[in-house]
Amino acid sequence: ADKPVDEDKQFIVMGTNAEFPPFEYIAGGEVTGFDVDIAKKIAEKLGLELKIENMQFSGLIAALQTKKIDFIAAGMTNTEERAKSVNFSQDYFEASQVIIVKKDSDAVKGKADLEGKKIGVQLGTTGEMEAKEIADATVESYDAGFAAVMDLANGKLDAVVIDQKPAEKFVSKNDKVMILEEELTKEAYAIAVNKEDDALLDTINQVIQELQESGEYDALYEKYFGE
Ligand code: GLN
Repeated sequence: ADKPVDEDKQFIVMGTNAEFPPFEYIAGGEVTGFDVDIAKKIAEKLGLELKIENMQFSGLIAALQTKKIDFIAAGMTNTEERAKSVNFSQDYFEASQVIIVKKDSDAVKGKADLEGKKIGVQLGTTGEMEAKEIADATVESYDAGFAAVMDLANGKLDAVVIDQKPAEKFVSKNDKVMILEEELTKEAYAIAVNKEDDALLDTINQVIQELQESGEYDALYEKYFGE
């Protein structure tokens, strides 16, 4: 297949998990966000309609492998482990894992204090992997990061480990919690495609590059991350 998609196709399917603002979230009943805007550009480049499948984050790679979706745009960190199962585009966003704690508790002031603590994470994420490395920690995995933050605010967890930008959104909605300065990781997001879809990967890389060169990427950044 040297064409990005089958000739009889009318739409291209983005797989995502719309629990990850501002990359993907529900607004007015629609999945929207930074990743959705990039995906629209990909569809436009292919001359196809964009369809979005909103599913659990932990199910995205399997959905791609079985071709239920054409690509993953989900604030997905480009990791070596995942690259065994999917092909990643060039990185399009620098990210990190941060620690969220309750403002009225000083039990966790940094990474070192996470040992032996009860940590909430989102299922199947790099935050979950990172938390599981921490000695004697009890890791509680949630389908949605915001649910973990709610449990933290209600005193059921000692900390939440999650990506920085969604963390900022979640914290802005709950004044009982805050983000610690010390970051746990440095990561980068990329778009994932099926190992067989080289032409689609080329197109996606081209779109990312064009967005960066045209200034559209900066405009999108401003739209979703500007003050
Ligand atoms: N960046 C994290 C990961 O790739 C979390 C992504 C997400 O929850 N949507 O695992």
